[in-house]
Amino acid sequence: MHKEDIEMAKKARLNSYSPYSNFLVGTTLRTKSGKLYTGCNIENHGIQGICGERTAFAKALSEGEREFESITVVGAKKGEEPTEECMPCGYCRQFMSEFVDDDFKIYTLDGNKVNEYTMKEILPYGFKI
Ligand code: ZN
Repeated sequence: MHKEDIEMAKKARLNSYSPYSNFLVGTTLRTKSGKLYTGCNIENHGIQGICGERTAFAKALSEGEREFESITVVGAKKGEEPTEECMPCGYCRQFMSEFVDDDFKIYTLDGNKVNEYTMKEILPYGFKI
């Protein structure tokens, strides 16, 4: 776990566009080569909003990245510090599983401690063709 990933996710969280939920999420996606891509949730009037996890993946994938090591996710209501655990939603779990190995790491903040999960743990029976 890299401390800078948490700090970058917290900073990216402040770019969230979430006027409907007022729940700001920030993420940092780390590639196997060590490059970092941040993301935040972006909502709209309809149902086509995008989560912070998929924003980071879209940025990285569109730059040609295909090898990923971990993603760090932080989230909290506007004006609050992200101290409660924020897990990827079901949609993001399935989306991420397309591009990562079973041992890809998901880091979340839980108070002052960092929790670590693997892709296999958070999506044990993902859909595969
Ligand atoms: Zn999601």
